[in-house]
Amino acid sequence: MRLYNSLSREKEEFIPRFEGKVSMYTCGPTVYHFAHIGNLRSYIMEDVLEKYLRYVGYDVTRVMNITDVGHLTSDADTGEDKMLKGAKREHKTVMEIAKFYTDAFFADCKKLNIKTPDVVEPATGCVPEFIDMIKTLLDKGYAYEAGGNIYFDTSKLDKYYVFNDFTEEDLDVGVRETVEADANKKNKADFVLWFTKSKFDDQELKWDSPFGLGYPGWHIECSCIARKHLGEYLDLHCGGIDNAFPHHTNEIAQSESTFGHEWCKYWFHVHHLNTLGGKMSKSKGEFLTVSLLEEKGFDPMVYRMFCLGSHYRKNLVFSWENLENAKTAYEKLVAKISSLKEDPEGAIDSEAFAQGREKFKSALDNDLNTSLAVTAIYDVLKLKTNDNTKLALIEDFDKVLGLDLIAHAKDYAVQNDTEPASEASDEFIAYINEKIQERAAAKRERNFALADAIRNELLEKGVTLVDKREGTEFIIN
Ligand code: AMP
Ligand code: ZN
Repeated sequence: MRLYNSLSREKEEFIPRFEGKVSMYTCGPTVYHFAHIGNLRSYIMEDVLEKYLRYVGYDVTRVMNITDVGHLTSDADTGEDKMLKGAKREHKTVMEIAKFYTDAFFADCKKLNIKTPDVVEPATGCVPEFIDMIKTLLDKGYAYEAGGNIYFDTSKLDKYYVFNDFTEEDLDVGVRETVEADANKKNKADFVLWFTKSKFDDQELKWDSPFGLGYPGWHIECSCIARKHLGEYLDLHCGGIDNAFPHHTNEIAQSESTFGHEWCKYWFHVHHLNTLGGKMSKSKGEFLTVSLLEEKGFDPMVYRMFCLGSHYRKNLVFSWENLENAKTAYEKLVAKISSLKEDPEGAIDSEAFAQGREKFKSALDNDLNTSLAVTAIYDVLKLKTNDNTKLALIEDFDKVLGLDLIAHAKDYAVQNDTEPASEASDEFIAYINEKIQERAAAKRERNFALADAIRNELLEKGVTLVDKREGTEFIIN
């Protein structure tokens, strides 16, 4: 598989460190509010990547943190702890807020068919690991104490700005946004590993440490949680593009300074979901959630389809009209699939199966081109092969795409009073159609006794005929 690596800024052949195995790390949500559909775009695309790696045979171990402490309102270590802000907003404790929004996050993921990673670890559960890494960084001279806090010294690195898109100028933006810069920092890019002196006295969660009573900075959690479960080498690290700087840049600085070698080989960044007014963000307070989409009558699968329709390295603009288009596309696709009839005794055409699968794989092998992978489903519908093969291919693709196509097609068939694909064989359908024609001929000849006899014969076989202006339709009971 070829995958764009934000580190090299090129599409590269994905070759994990150990053959057949992938260690994958994902930055999890900051659980001070509901996830917005922008956050969930990142998790949908990462989910497709994980499922595709499994689909092509890798044994994937995926780890995700839950940020429940230390993420301040500015990524540049200024402002208020987001968790504390959430707790104050709702007059609850930080831990109550964390529990509520963690559960809400996974409930949204479930609705969107996003698989829960193999390991999910809240930052507050790993404080000893953070202390351990910070001690190493101090011992090795990569960190310093100033004003009671511990900082990472970015001047100790030959190359700090590893993702070339980001430079020192980006820091000025961060600082301007938050009014006051931190005077303890030796270099503008330095970042906090451990806070003891906080600008806000009411920080709820604090831990004893060799550096004083305090709490961790945001970035340290991912380096330590990844190390705890995946060791000193990662194959793949994911997150939204806003995480590349400073968060992932700082993760790399800490981890590689601790380990003394390269840490993670491939970096996968999902670009943003924007509204027409700009980037969707939790801190702006007004944002779109999965529940809101549902209230407006959109199945979460429609949102997943909407996300898969565009490449993960492009910004995606959300509008209700765009979502409406995705809904139409999804419903049409489901309706088409519902007309496929499975024959329980029928075979699968292995040549057509391989051909359909090849198209699907070549789309995803090329830097996870999900929109082409969705197109591969339409190609399956046009294949000159039997319905069993088409259904098998669609079911196979959906292991990766996660659009619940077969289940929705079955629901569609029930709602539209047509027979679910699985129960009627092609021969049986042909037999019914033949009988319908015989009955129509009998009626034309005004032989109503014969027409009724045919209707009753079908009824005994569980088939009800419905005469409509366009012709006779049938329902198999
Ligand atoms: P947070 O809960 O703020 O820590 O973010 C969770 C994930 O969502 C991170 O991977 C972010 O990079 C990502 N993210 C934040 N905003 C957006 C957006 N508008 N579109 C896509 N991903 C986003
Ligand atoms: Zn992270």
